Amino acid sequence: MINIALFGPPGAGKGTQSAFLIEKYDLFYISTGDLLRKELAEETKLGLEAKSIIAAGKLVSDEIIVQILENTIKENSQARGFLFDGFPRTTIQAYILEGLMIQLNTSLNCLISIEVPEDESVARLLNRGLTSGRSDDNELIIRNRLKEYDDKTLPVLNYYREKGNYIAIDGFQPVDQVTAQIEEIINKELNKKLMNVVIFGYPGCGRGSQGIALAKKYGLEYISTGRMLEEEIKEGTELGKRITQMYENGVLVPDEIVVPLLISKIKNSQSVKGFIFKGFPRTLVQSYILDGILKKNKFKITKIIDIQVSTLELISRLDKRSKTSQCKPYDTSTEKIVRRLKEHEEKTIPVIDKYKQKHDVAIVNGEAEFEIVFERMAFEIEKGFKNLR
Ligand code: AMP
Repeated sequence: MINIALFGPPGAGKGTQSAFLIEKYDLFYISTGDLLRKELAEETKLGLEAKSIIAAGKLVSDEIIVQILENTIKENSQARGFLFDGFPRTTIQAYILEGLMIQLNTSLNCLISIEVPEDESVARLLNRGLTSGRSDDNELIIRNRLKEYDDKTLPVLNYYREKGNYIAIDGFQPVDQVTAQIEEIINKELNKKLMNVVIFGYPGCGRGSQGIALAKKYGLEYISTGRMLEEEIKEGTELGKRITQMYENGVLVPDEIVVPLLISKIKNSQSVKGFIFKGFPRTLVQSYILDGILKKNKFKITKIIDIQVSTLELISRLDKRSKTSQCKPYDTSTEKIVRRLKEHEEKTIPVIDKYKQKHDVAIVNGEAEFEIVFERMAFEIEKGFKNLR
């Protein structure tokens, strides 16, 4: 999801800009002014309550705003993002927006403030008043609306300035130039979204080779906890020696060892488009750890793929691998191979089941030649990129 609030005094051009943005970015448009006018036209209880306040150019109460917003947001929770116009108009409403976003497990990306001098606002609104049919577009009420803006709405900027997601643009220029600047801001926001993929599958299903190839093709960082552990072994560190022992006994390496390696790998990966996690999370505990690490970095899992291969094929592949130079310390004997498969079944399958409750887990048939499976995986990743918001 991408959520943007357009901010600025009445007449800044928020409505005009919105029309273009909702189309281009497929956003759900929420103008509290429009919603209130609808209530008014339908003469609902809320509409009648707000009528005289709107007519006077004052701000309606936060209670009314929450009521009209809550339903609209809930009914459109599947939207690809929201564009707010005329909200938040008070610092209290900034907190309300935060709460509404949390309910959808998302947040406001940024508040774009379109700045125009007061005289220009008045001139534009008077001009609009000739055709808008809005009774509040007359000079006396316009002045009241601008006073409300100065007194109650302008302080909202401080809230977002402190949060670091406030961006000001000059609204006193041709419409298309303002549009171009807003587009630039939104495109930047979209580029910040990372594609974080978790690849699941039994040992021998091809997770590693597919993960590496996919990472290369899509500019993602491949994170294999197994590979990081192997590096420790190769370097012959004390930690490496302990890990070798654990491998030989077929037990999982404890989280105290894996997690710090994972954290530093993420920290050191800059300007990547996202991560591909392979071999982590392997246990329910690790799934909570991964969620926590991602959350701390303001990332989240955006795609989960489970590669499926029959047990006979897995054993045959692992057995073959054990007879080549690619043999891993943990697949030197049938006994070890079986133990690994069992570990996956007991500890990792519940993780996949957990994710299935909250995410769409893509199932990919891994029983084909590498290139064919790669195409299937790439298809899923590209789908993920399209939904990335
Ligand atoms: P607008 O169409 O955004 O210019 O809003 C027209 C009028 O609706 C305003 O002058 C207010 O009376 C009322 N209104 C719209 N949005 C809000 C809001 N977020 N909080 C309080 N009052 C609002």
